Amino acid sequence: MRTEILIIGGGVIGLSIAYKLRIAGTRRIAVVERGTLGSEASWAAGGMLGVQAETDSPGQFLDLCKASLARYPEFIETLTAATDIDAELDRTGTLKLAFNESETAKLQERAEWQRNAGLSVEQLSATDIRRTEPFVSPNVASGLFFPDDWQIDNRKLLAALRRFAEISDIDIFENTEAGSIIVENGRAIGVMTSIGEIRSDHIVLATGAWTSLIKLGDVPIPLNIRPIRGQMLEFHSAKRIFHHVLIGSEGYLVPRADGRILAGSTTEDVGFDNSNTPHGEAVILNTAIQLSPSIAGLNVSSKWAGLRPMAADGMPVIGTIPGLDDMTVATAHYRNGILLAPLTAEIAAGQILNEEASPWMTIFGTQRLRFTEQVSTTRAF
Ligand SMILES: Cc1cc2nc3c(=O)[nH]c(=O)nc-3n(C[C@H](O)[C@H](O)[C@H](O)COP(=O)(O)OP(=O)(O)OC[C@H]3O[C@@H](n4cnc5c(N)ncnc54)[C@H](O)[C@@H]3O)c2cc1C
Repeated sequence: MRTEILIIGGGVIGLSIAYKLRIAGTRRIAVVERGTLGSEASWAAGGMLGVQAETDSPGQFLDLCKASLARYPEFIETLTAATDIDAELDRTGTLKLAFNESETAKLQERAEWQRNAGLSVEQLSATDIRRTEPFVSPNVASGLFFPDDWQIDNRKLLAALRRFAEISDIDIFENTEAGSIIVENGRAIGVMTSIGEIRSDHIVLATGAWTSLIKLGDVPIPLNIRPIRGQMLEFHSAKRIFHHVLIGSEGYLVPRADGRILAGSTTEDVGFDNSNTPHGEAVILNTAIQLSPSIAGLNVSSKWAGLRPMAADGMPVIGTIPGLDDMTVATAHYRNGILLAPLTAEIAAGQILNEEASPWMTIFGTQRLRFTEQVSTTRAF
């Protein structure tokens, strides 16, 4: 079989790139997915679009996150119009909470650098917080309000991207595993899959936490991407008890419109095991109850875990592999793949269609990676 653009991996990154390429007029696009579309990290995520909660300093990563967030309203509007599936972009904002003096001091520092960086941030007293969110713990000491840290229902986003692919005649190959990229004279010309060879003009590797398992011919791809497990618990309350995303120093609560509350998460370097563990669940539960004692009385309606794709420096990898033409890599979005999907799609599609690297690729491309480097740090949650 032959196609124009062959995307390996049907998570939020692969599907957003397919969407962007189709909107830009690419005719033949195929997505090869080992399982079912959107059933791995992108499904497991909390859906926070947490530019200000997720960045610890000004710089290029903050700029990348901000630029992607800015694309969200139009991304969701056009996707909803095309599919009739609304991924519920919720712009209520996020509260980052402190429960003691040292956490309050850290929030103060965060507020200062963010204001200097031109971001909107409001400092709140314990009384302000309890007035806004009456079910937050009475032990709360202070907080920050980020009006521009939004959330999205990531599962509805995936459903919309899937619907878009189906109605736009994008070829979808589920239950199809890509093994090795076929390389000829320094060009990626196709992929060996579990259903045979697929040839293409250009390949996009959007294989998330499994990227390092792909081979270039007979040799492993020179990218060190590791799976970092995150477990989640879901609670259900008959009516919505929180309005904002609530973030503490060890975890978070994400309230959905239908009364579900997602609580996360762990950060575990345990290989490709994406099970839940009693320890992980206990950590999440304790953190959730610390944020709001009301959680203790709710039903646990679901639990799951997913594997975040992480490069050695924790930054996304969007670029090409030196010496290999006709292949784009879009992976390692680690904790922020939902947030970064619209911009990643734009960068990748721009490179494929215009054959010129975006300035973002110079910053977040593969050239910065020392391929043997080990993961050195992980954050608290
Ligand atoms: C618990 C948790 C909470 C998170 N919360 C947030 C959040 O609030 N906000 C946010 O922005 N991000 C969040 N993230 C991170 C986000 O989910 C990821 O960064 C993002 O989903 C990565 O998208 P992806 O498409 O690269 O990966 P995936 O969704 O994992 O998709 C990769 C796909 O490639 C397929 N694949 C792999 N190898 C092959 C192969 N050889 N052949 C064919 N198919 C293959 C896989 O089956 C998979 O479907 C969270 C992640 C977790 C786990």
